[in-house]
Amino acid sequence: MTEVKLDRIGKSYGAVEAVQQFDLTIREGEFLVLLGPSGCGKSTTLRMIAGLESITRGDLLIGGKRMNDVDPKDRGVAMVFQNYALYPHKTVFDNMAMALKLQKVDAAEIRDRVGRTAEMLGLTDYLNRKPGALSGGQRQRVAIGRAIVRTPSVFLFDEPLSNLDAKLRVKMRMELQELHARLGATSVYVTHDQVEAMTLADRIVIMNGGVVAQVGTPREVYDRPANEFVAGVVGSPAMNFLDLRRDDTGRWISDCGSMVLASLPVDAGARHHVRLGVRPEHIEVSADGGAGADEAGYRAEVLLDELLGADALLSLGIGQARLLARVGGLAHPVKGDAVTIRLNPAQLHVFDADTGAAIRA
Ligand code: ADP
Repeated sequence: MTEVKLDRIGKSYGAVEAVQQFDLTIREGEFLVLLGPSGCGKSTTLRMIAGLESITRGDLLIGGKRMNDVDPKDRGVAMVFQNYALYPHKTVFDNMAMALKLQKVDAAEIRDRVGRTAEMLGLTDYLNRKPGALSGGQRQRVAIGRAIVRTPSVFLFDEPLSNLDAKLRVKMRMELQELHARLGATSVYVTHDQVEAMTLADRIVIMNGGVVAQVGTPREVYDRPANEFVAGVVGSPAMNFLDLRRDDTGRWISDCGSMVLASLPVDAGARHHVRLGVRPEHIEVSADGGAGADEAGYRAEVLLDELLGADALLSLGIGQARLLARVGGLAHPVKGDAVTIRLNPAQLHVFDADTGAAIRA
């Protein structure tokens, strides 16, 4: 098992700063996920670790050795790609054996290593098939197998599940978790899917425009997002945001005046304008038509309801303000209903309106 240290590494393409000052130590055996929207620099970071991109600034250390100028094949890393990158005319066996043959590993050992890996991945019966005769999930397993047979110290995954349908993605995600528990190898995994990040990661790095926006465990980034960007990326459906302005009496009023908070759960200091963050799953909705609305409650109308199965999503109108709420799916209020909503102060997030940084109690 191997530690990977990114010592303020960065990448520029001419004037474009794809990655700025990425500074992080990935622990031995850790499963680290890089999460963020398209173009935020995830793949560039991964490819710098793999050696597929040169490093413009900073140092990359794998197992304590500086790797900036080391050939990709000598870094002890193996990468699994989104498009599998299998050789279509070679059998599953030969695809998995390829790298070992190039390393001149002897034939008996190749058979043994490929055989054991195929068994681990449920591919034993497919070793003589060509990739074209496999399902998407099986192809991705071959791509993973090809990485495993090389017994790398570090696994790099570039959106490996993106080409699979939703059901298969969930299954492969669980297989990856089991595999990681078994192999315990340091892994870096790139995705734009926050559910994958939350379920697979020991720690998540959320990136925004080439900059690290936060590093933390799934729990930390969900419970205590460092800024509005992270708050919007982590969680599904995404967090609701409302502009609040302080009036002369110290109360906080939403843009169109439909929501009024007597106070914020944090000390906003001298600020007169903040952004309030409310997760859809933290809005309490009662179907009492507003009759029971007390000081902490707001009357709202259900503008749209979507049954997901176990849960339902409600689009709520509180005057001009709009909030998305997630409620239990059985007997949920429906479009046109009048409801009362309540917000638990302990579950609210407050952000600086200018910088987006979280304001903490
Ligand atoms: P992500 O993987 O998060 O989608 P990338 O790491 O692929 O993002 O890209 C980060 C940024 O670098 C983007 O703005 C992208 O346009 C830019 N970029 C990537 N590769 C090149 C390249 N070869 N030349 C110029 N710009 C590039």
